[in-house]
Amino acid sequence: MSTDAAPPIPAIQTIGLTRYYGQMAALTSLDLIVNRGDLFGFIGSNGAGKTTTLRILATFLAPSSGTAKILGHDVVTDADAVRHIIGYMPDFFGVYKDMEVTEYLDFFGACYKIPTAQRERTVNDVLELVGLTEKKGAIIGALSRGMQQRLGLARVLIHDPQLLLLDEPASGLDPRARIEMMAILQELQRMGKTIIISSHILSELQTLCNRVAIIEKGRLIYTGPVQ
Ligand code: ATP
Repeated sequence: MSTDAAPPIPAIQTIGLTRYYGQMAALTSLDLIVNRGDLFGFIGSNGAGKTTTLRILATFLAPSSGTAKILGHDVVTDADAVRHIIGYMPDFFGVYKDMEVTEYLDFFGACYKIPTAQRERTVNDVLELVGLTEKKGAIIGALSRGMQQRLGLARVLIHDPQLLLLDEPASGLDPRARIEMMAILQELQRMGKTIIISSHILSELQTLCNRVAIIEKGRLIYTGPVQ
């Protein structure tokens, strides 16, 4: 009897991923593996190439060369499949400030074609997950920054993605809001989701993440355990 089992498919795998903006290389030959179930920290200073990488993984930006796969799906040739299994939270995202919290999430649920009968329950579930149940009827513009960030996270959870790409989700938050955000991410990891989170502060992620990668000027300089 053969004992050879196929190796598990990584949640994220990039090979030689490169991106130029004009003549400038923002990302150079990035080889990165994120395993399923990781809460993975993607660290780099301003301009290191974090957003460029996450945008490529989210299918919003084409690489100049190299490949990237999400759960085995190529982000260029199989972009539709990738969009169904990821939730991408950009570093700057708009919230419709005049909308109510539930209205906003219901709208995105409809965009993902969640049937009307299921949507109320789905919206309630994600609100509970991010600790915003009490703000259901609130106008978004009246929420604190931390609450708006959590609402942004609720939005990317609405279609129950397996993998989350979060671009500096804790930036601009006060220490308490930061701790709340980190606790939610740990809960999502416990639920079995794979999460990659970018930050320019290593210390912010060292207690949260099981593995990290550090990039500088578009090149990977370390990947492995936080220690
Ligand atoms: P930050 O922490 O400041 O968000 P980052 O690590 O996310 O930085 P990127 O936004 O990926 O870095 O930027 C990498 C490099 O590419 C930077 O030098 C940036 O100026 C450049 N860059 C990013 N987007 C563009 C663009 N649309 N056109 C030209 N250059 C760009």
